[in-house]
Amino acid sequence: MMENLSNETVFRDIEENYRIILQNLDMAATQAGVDRDDIRFMAVTKTVPPVFVNHALQLGIDLIGENKVQELLEKKEFLNGKYDAHLIGHLQTNKVKKIIREVTMIQSVDSVKLACEISKQAKNADLVMPVLLELNIGEEESKTGFLPQNFTENALEIAEMDAIQVCGVMSVPPICDSQTEIRIWFEKVRKQYEKLKDNAKLKEMNILSMGMSSDYVQAVLEGANLVRVGSALFGHRRY
Ligand SMILES: *Cc1c(COP(=O)(O)O)cnc(C)c1O
Repeated sequence: MMENLSNETVFRDIEENYRIILQNLDMAATQAGVDRDDIRFMAVTKTVPPVFVNHALQLGIDLIGENKVQELLEKKEFLNGKYDAHLIGHLQTNKVKKIIREVTMIQSVDSVKLACEISKQAKNADLVMPVLLELNIGEEESKTGFLPQNFTENALEIAEMDAIQVCGVMSVPPICDSQTEIRIWFEKVRKQYEKLKDNAKLKEMNILSMGMSSDYVQAVLEGANLVRVGSALFGHRRY
């Protein structure tokens, strides 16, 4: 966010950006032959000041995503209205306790060990935590997440845990040069998701979270029903 722009200017930008995103989602849903209402839009709010997040909430956005526990907890103090907050970044086991009552879903479950701690803390808090399993589809060293070859085995182990509900899969594919290339990754993720759903213990899963600012249309065309959009809504991040 540019400090020399007035809040009003940024508000107008967010409104215009959201209008365009909604149009694109409508078109993508039509093209994919799915009901637009079945696609959930997440505003990724990392680095975005609360005043602008609140503006997004006023526009009717009802789901936000943050990568960091601390940033989420601090920001929540300043947010108004009704919304869901999901964690979408790597979570350290020692921070699970802090977040367990603060989010309605953890999308970034990337190890059996983390799932185990989430189940333990959820049980202590007397709740069941909905989670997505993060798939490292490109098998990139720089990323956390389950590898395709262990995915089913790990997912089935997590599905057995008491206070966790496995609701689906989240993935961030490798950076690509073209829309054709990214779509091939999204297809691979969808196939892994469908393969998991073939297991009786995982057949209730119904969330496929993929697609960000530059590729959410491709993701929807490949079956995503939750898209996570940051910079296309709020403008470029300034860290
Ligand atoms: C930052 C982030 C996004 C949003 O990225 P944009 O390119 O700004 O839309 C989505 N998902 C995850 C996991 C992220 O970390």
